[in-house]
Amino acid sequence: MKFVDEYRGAQEAQTYARAIARLTTRPWTIMEVCGGQTHAIVKFGVDELLPKEVELVHGPGCPVCVTPLELIDKAIEIASRPEVIFCSFGDMLRVPGSSSDLLVVKANGGDVRIVYSPMDALKIAQANPAKKVVFFAVGFETTAPANAMAVFQAHEQGIENFSILVSHVLVPPAMEAILSSSINRVQGFLAAGHVCTIMGYNEYGPIAEKYHVPIVVTGFEPLDILQGVYMCVKQLEEGRAEVENQYTRSVRQEGNIPAQQIISEVFRIVPRKWRGVGEIPQSGLGLSSKYQRFDAEEIFGVADYTAEESPDCISGLVLQGVKKPGECSAFGTSCTPEHPLGATMVSTEGACAAYYRYRGLRARAVAIAGREG
Ligand code: SF4
Repeated sequence: MKFVDEYRGAQEAQTYARAIARLTTRPWTIMEVCGGQTHAIVKFGVDELLPKEVELVHGPGCPVCVTPLELIDKAIEIASRPEVIFCSFGDMLRVPGSSSDLLVVKANGGDVRIVYSPMDALKIAQANPAKKVVFFAVGFETTAPANAMAVFQAHEQGIENFSILVSHVLVPPAMEAILSSSINRVQGFLAAGHVCTIMGYNEYGPIAEKYHVPIVVTGFEPLDILQGVYMCVKQLEEGRAEVENQYTRSVRQEGNIPAQQIISEVFRIVPRKWRGVGEIPQSGLGLSSKYQRFDAEEIFGVADYTAEESPDCISGLVLQGVKKPGECSAFGTSCTPEHPLGATMVSTEGACAAYYRYRGLRARAVAIAGREG
């Protein structure tokens, strides 16, 4: 497959791994930000190709994983109402709330629909004027332009029975929160290529400089990731902390300007709670005052919901790169993809689900051996 197969060559991967090994003189901890990268790393065993001195830890870039528990509860509450058609990407339906999930709402007769775009939800609103149609707008900077466009179109066309339940988060503030934490282990980042396709990478320069960390914008295939690691280790070994772009086939420094403009038109920057991590200042997007009437939290009066995470789940530490999934005592026992305790197990991009799927209980044995060693 064009632009996929040529980035999966086993021989080239071995060549990169050897080059990284030759470069490495001491231990380094590098975080890949995006859940898609985590998935590829675990699926293809990229981390197992690296010299033992280079450790990859898994960041908070899985949108399903960082969506707060109370927001799932809000979605369930709204979707349960008889006047509502609740639209969502499929991966949100199985995410457990405090006591249920959206699939259960659907099984109990709620009108919960899987859509592939927020514009599909807008069409459903146009076709069902007697219903209130809500789209679950979850994600990073990558999904924000399409969600913003749906709200903009609803505003322009006067579609008043459409709203969005917003949980948009932004990558740079999360990176800063990780770097400024007292338990931080991260010395370099592989930034998420698709986020930078939208936003460019000018935002990362001040972070690299302030915290003296290299940041390499990186793609999602095994050779992309290995090249990103090589570039990151090279900077670390040379004492540099710069922003570099491995993913040149997709990312320009300035990003996608029209996409950024529609985000700025519809959204404003707000504090956001990240599941397992807590609130991070200025780390999310909410509707700006001009588009406030499309805010489902306000329309349905659920803005003040709160919820408590399972005390057994350490996904917050996993998402900050402090722990690996196998170090969680619930991994593969009381927490599995069939019965997830935390969102990093339910999402296919979640680190726990990736370890469980591709390494099974071996991940737990490796973690225990690592602790004892
Ligand atoms: S294995 Fe389950 S309980 Fe443990 S951190 Fe992952 S999601 Fe949470």
